[in-house]
Amino acid sequence: MKVLVINAGSSSLKYQLMVPDTREVLAKGLCERIGIDGHLKHQPTDKDVFDADIDLPNHEAAIKEVLNLLTHNHYGVIADVSEIDAVGHRVVHGGEDFTQSVVIDEKVIKGIEDCIPLAPLHNPANITGIRACQDVMPNTPMVGVFDTAFHQTIPPKGYMYALPYRYYTENKVRRYGFHGTSHDYVSKRAAELCGRPIEELRLVSCHLGNGASTCAIQYGKSIDTSMGLTPTDGLPMGTRSGAIDPSITEYISRVRGYSPERVAGVLNKESGMLGLSGVSSDFRDLEKAAEEGNERAELAMDIFCYKVTKRIGSGAAAMGGIDGVIFTAGVGENAPTIREKIMEGLEFMGLYIDKEKNKTRDEAIVSTDDSPGIIFVIPTNEELMIALDTERLLKD
Ligand code: AMP
Repeated sequence: MKVLVINAGSSSLKYQLMVPDTREVLAKGLCERIGIDGHLKHQPTDKDVFDADIDLPNHEAAIKEVLNLLTHNHYGVIADVSEIDAVGHRVVHGGEDFTQSVVIDEKVIKGIEDCIPLAPLHNPANITGIRACQDVMPNTPMVGVFDTAFHQTIPPKGYMYALPYRYYTENKVRRYGFHGTSHDYVSKRAAELCGRPIEELRLVSCHLGNGASTCAIQYGKSIDTSMGLTPTDGLPMGTRSGAIDPSITEYISRVRGYSPERVAGVLNKESGMLGLSGVSSDFRDLEKAAEEGNERAELAMDIFCYKVTKRIGSGAAAMGGIDGVIFTAGVGENAPTIREKIMEGLEFMGLYIDKEKNKTRDEAIVSTDDSPGIIFVIPTNEELMIALDTERLLKD
């Protein structure tokens, strides 16, 4: 089966055509600046790359261009669009209704629409991507894979906020969590790597990228996660504050005269590593600045590592023990010094990092041979997870 995986943003569309069975990636690419002017980078495996400005007035036009390239006589990897057996869509918010991936029909699209208030930037873009594919490939089955679904196993004591209960029943205010597809993938892969059944492992997965979250995964199920109602909660991130005293928002708006929208903008776009360092949201820039003696860049990274360390500890407490820690995403996969710093002081929980093994950027176990707990580096692969779910659902 050939599955086209689509991750649609408001002005971008990432895609990957793959064969889930063999894990073969036939082509991948990215459409950017949709509705503005347009740019498309198409990377067919073992063939020339197409990388050019191209008019992309809307998502339908972007999908059409992608299909043209996938079937192109020079850049193409399939002879005809009919070779695409299914499309798997990443959907950010599935609320409480979507506890797992589903075959998309009108009822499902309505359900995704109902979650728009919870993800006003992401879900409309995801629906646009689904509609664009339906227009261009009306007979191809589609599956929705939700970022929130993996966390629907979190028990009420983990997902409820201590607010008036009616905010939950009337306004859906609760912890949902995100990066679920990534946490799900890396935890399953960790079990494969260490050769133990996931049903006997207590893992803390650390998805550390521009967005960052941890997840306590007990015997294969998410039981707690750091992101909340929105992806602003939890760890400090590239530009997001992470968890702060909730009264800071009211205080800032009063003393600086900011509207609620302006405060939300500060928390999401001007905080985190960028706000602390004044240098950049990118850890590569922060590491360079710190090496050159920039103390605020060093402080930003110290705070980040400290918060991740504490989250690993709280995940272990939630599970009554810990068998492994997983690092994934941009920072987790590529920054050995950050991993080392995070793991410093966690030896008391039986987690010993091997500094030599930790120099890797590939999939690896980086704990010492006699470490009771295992430390993994696992490149995330959300596209593969989406393709596998799509295949599984359509084969049933
Ligand atoms: P992601 O959101 O998973 O794509 O991660 C993107 C982030 O990963 C970037 O903003 C960087 O902060 C970080 N990153 C990527 N490569 C490196 C690297 N070699 N060293 C440190 N951080 C990196």
